[in-house]
Amino acid sequence: MPLESQLLTALSKEALERCDDLALLTEETGAITRTFLSYPMKQVHTLLSLWMREAGLTVRIDAVGNVIGRLEAADSRTVMIGSHVDTVPNAGKFDGILGVMLGIALAKAVHLSGLSLPFSLEVVAFSEEEGVRFALPFIGSRALVGSLSPDLLEKRDAAGVSLSESIINFGLNPFDLAAAKAKDLLAYLEIHIEQGPVLESKGLALGVVQGIAGQTRASLSLTGQAGHAGTTPMNLRRDALAAAALVILEVERLAKATTGLVATVGMLEVQNGAGNVIPERVTLSLDVRHLEDGLRKRAVAELLDFAWQTARKRNLAFSHEIKLEQSASHCNEMLSGFLGDALEDSGRKLFALPSGAGHDAMVMAQISRTAMLFIRSPGGISHHPNETVQVGDTRAALDVAYRFFEKIAAAPAVIWDANTR
Ligand SMILES: [Zn+2]
Repeated sequence: MPLESQLLTALSKEALERCDDLALLTEETGAITRTFLSYPMKQVHTLLSLWMREAGLTVRIDAVGNVIGRLEAADSRTVMIGSHVDTVPNAGKFDGILGVMLGIALAKAVHLSGLSLPFSLEVVAFSEEEGVRFALPFIGSRALVGSLSPDLLEKRDAAGVSLSESIINFGLNPFDLAAAKAKDLLAYLEIHIEQGPVLESKGLALGVVQGIAGQTRASLSLTGQAGHAGTTPMNLRRDALAAAALVILEVERLAKATTGLVATVGMLEVQNGAGNVIPERVTLSLDVRHLEDGLRKRAVAELLDFAWQTARKRNLAFSHEIKLEQSASHCNEMLSGFLGDALEDSGRKLFALPSGAGHDAMVMAQISRTAMLFIRSPGGISHHPNETVQVGDTRAALDVAYRFFEKIAAAPAVIWDANTR
């Protein structure tokens, strides 16, 4: 039985109002900025605990400040739903936060409707995902999967406070870190705003996420010869910036010609650049993402080869450095199937898309099957105060999440054995 219409409306409205409430808890007046274990996070904990208890959950806070509400069943194996409650500087109200508020709404719906779950349910509010304070993203989910190694606790923020000191200052104990590791997770579901324009361009409220794209980040350097812009004839130049322009256009061309590939040159540094000097050395950034690792690696190799060829033809030196190589993380097919069925049962068109941005689900995939549901982002705007979400889309997301839980609750227990990550 899907959730009764009036309850669905009330709970999704409440989830949105709570996003407004949390937006008031900030480090900066006039803007939403809430980094890892900052003072406003204390107030966030108070509200989250209150709302989770009201939804029938037992609340605990782990060593890094993740707030977790649990509904215990006879089977202690757990299905988790959640996202993060920290923000980037000058953020919107919904990135991460809406996913947590909908997790609490889902738990409340289970509580009020009396839906019996054959597994324990947990709603998680990750304390940190954005990586702002310690230039270290996913502190919350890393703690849950057990990959926050002790050396990372020595990392320091801009004020010189170490990660372990920040935990102590907040009233938590870094020695409890090992206990934060999640046990017996059957599944992790994350609802998140898309933060991009795809769903809106398709006229769709929701989409099932296939996985999180892998990415390569590299730095490319082209070196020619500086010279006087007035005295050096065109045929005697070794202009590094003109070559870089060709590389940038090839990055765009290849990505446009390859389904699912996104590639960006976002930074260009012209060393000792001046209006009357032929550019000698240019460094450009390269960011390449795709859901299939093999395809991404091939694209990177092709682009590096193009840059090398271009340099050779123009008598320039070429070098590159790979800065980051991160594999794609695929959502679990069975869970995504249930999520897709739930979407169709709710009367919506099934649409699947990759995520070009990282999410906690990517980290959680190390220890659990994962599934993700995207909610349309009007204008594709995110990480900005103008970030919004439609009331109807939020209601639809809760509807689908509840139907998803009904489906996995009704499925034979053997599905969990048969389907590994
Ligand atoms: Zn987020």
